[in-house]
Amino acid sequence: MDLEQSRKVADEPRLPVLCQPGAGKSCAACCGLYNYADSSRESLTRRLRARTRRFGEMTKTGDGLERYAKEISAVEDLRKRYEVIYCCEYLGFLDEQERRVGCLLHPAQNSGIDRRVGSFYGQELCAGYLCPSHQYIPKHQLKILIKIIDDWYLYGLCLTDIDLVTTYFRLLSDKIGEELKPGVFNNQALKDIAREYFNWKISWPFRSPDINRLGKYYFDGSQYMISRIDYEIFDQVRSPFDPIFLSLSSCFSQADEIEQAENLIRTNIEKFSSCYPTIF
Ligand code: SF4
Ligand code: SF4
Repeated sequence: MDLEQSRKVADEPRLPVLCQPGAGKSCAACCGLYNYADSSRESLTRRLRARTRRFGEMTKTGDGLERYAKEISAVEDLRKRYEVIYCCEYLGFLDEQERRVGCLLHPAQNSGIDRRVGSFYGQELCAGYLCPSHQYIPKHQLKILIKIIDDWYLYGLCLTDIDLVTTYFRLLSDKIGEELKPGVFNNQALKDIAREYFNWKISWPFRSPDINRLGKYYFDGSQYMISRIDYEIFDQVRSPFDPIFLSLSSCFSQADEIEQAENLIRTNIEKFSSCYPTIF
């Protein structure tokens, strides 16, 4: 999947359920959420919390939005991973519990008034954009993702990583010999096993420490490149889990780390398949 998917108006209506599926999580990746130089959970939480408060205080009057935008540029660290992608100043928390991230200008947050007209992308693009995950991740897999992840930070990272999602669910299906049904994940044990896998998006032990790396991409400010793992220097062939390794921002320094990484994924898939027949 190519990153040069600049905003386009979608031909079909968006699946609102995917961006804002309900309490407990939401996605705002296409508004630039993860494109800050420091896109750690702690940093984004602080940023969104301060914005939401400021937005509530400043935007009640006529020129409030303009003053708000100016103040954000003055007080925030706006360094980006990738200059080409805009980081929108109107992203904030949508609920008091800080469990859903999203657009502070959206009509649902503004008594039905759509205030996105003056935003960087404009109302039409903001309302109509549909990211590639809508098209390239099968619907039953999207439903599973919504079922198993209850964390805005992790949800947006996983939902927009097509290889991470589709490769894993394909491996699980191959192992159990049938297509996965979302209802399967009502079972807590299977849900926990899948969660272990998706949590690696944040906690993978072989994750590159480079802050300019996001999944398989790495950035040098004005450009992005696609990473690759050089198996030859370890005298090894390409791993069957290579797309997953790249999605998890892997960086290996010795051959046995590749083996350990493969074992983690293999064990997770084995655990899933050994639980599966006892439950269904
Ligand atoms: S990145 Fe995709 S799923 Fe996330 S908010 Fe944008 S359109 Fe919705
Ligand atoms: S104005 Fe548009 S880009 Fe900004 S947060 Fe809202 S939807 Fe996202």
